[in-house]
Amino acid sequence: MNALRLVQPGRPIEMHDVPVPDVGRRDVLVRVRAAGICHSDAHYRAGRSSASPLPLTLGHEVAGVVERVGADVTAVRSGDRVCLHYLIACGDCLHCSRGHEQFCRTGSMIGHFRDGGWAEYIVVPERNAVRLPDEIPFEHGAVLMCSSATALHALRKARLTGGETVAVFGVGGLGMSAVQLARALGALDVFAVDLDADKLRVARDYGAISVDARGDDPVAAVRRYTGGRGVDVALELIGLPLTMRQAVQTLAVQGRAVVAGLADEPLELDTYRDLLGKEAELIGANDHLLQELPLLLEFARRRVLDLSRVVARTLPLDAGAVNGVLDELDRFGAPVRTVIVP
Ligand SMILES: [Zn+2]
Ligand SMILES: [Zn+2]
Repeated sequence: MNALRLVQPGRPIEMHDVPVPDVGRRDVLVRVRAAGICHSDAHYRAGRSSASPLPLTLGHEVAGVVERVGADVTAVRSGDRVCLHYLIACGDCLHCSRGHEQFCRTGSMIGHFRDGGWAEYIVVPERNAVRLPDEIPFEHGAVLMCSSATALHALRKARLTGGETVAVFGVGGLGMSAVQLARALGALDVFAVDLDADKLRVARDYGAISVDARGDDPVAAVRRYTGGRGVDVALELIGLPLTMRQAVQTLAVQGRAVVAGLADEPLELDTYRDLLGKEAELIGANDHLLQELPLLLEFARRRVLDLSRVVARTLPLDAGAVNGVLDELDRFGAPVRTVIVP
């Protein structure tokens, strides 16, 4: 089968002819129908984040049709539409048994530490193949498995409840889902903070109040909109110390800021004014959980979460085209999301 593989960091992805993977007794072989191209993939190709063992088939946002199942598989059968939870966890270790599978001692991510979905077929354990409702296109199912799921996890970490207000810093792939999911979970007002007028327009269409950080100090703008109070929940999805600080500074008394963007610089805060003086909380969010996917898929099935404006274009399984998208992601110039349709 054809597979797009990372052979060496810093070099373009290459198309290879590889065997269709073996199917273990509790595994599922999936014919890939959609595989997202994520900013993480650009980091793996560049070597900013390491992927192994090389050569490795990338692609962790995957949806498709079950082609064949192992002898002991009961949850799905051939012909089922599925999307794939990208984190392969043991289910038994201390972290898994406490429901924090993203810290599984033997956990492994598809398209990062084992072969992913930029290929015609992929094998995953049965528990990672989640039924994809007929109403959700494969392209959306793929993207739901990464940015949307992480946005939902961040909002759950923030303990958002109905009637609260939310500010989302950065309305890229994660942020567009975060805006819609915050509203689905009952947020009264959702502020979208970004520098990009096009993204702000889409966020407004999804129900957000836009704050253009080019012309306005976002902290002052959010305070102005909320009568000086601030927001109950702020999500930082960009990965900059500046916006992390702004997220904390927009909080109301007892507000919660969740950081899900990766920064390589330390964050400075005025701990009295920004945190303890108002009993604010700063919370980290890392990945997401299998148990969060049913609610996410139900929101998408009802179109409360609509990705039709997030999945900006599709491409064939072609090395040149995919490398071009990764080049764009390296320059921060890509449209919101591109999905490979093999
Ligand atoms: Zn991703
Ligand atoms: Zn485990």
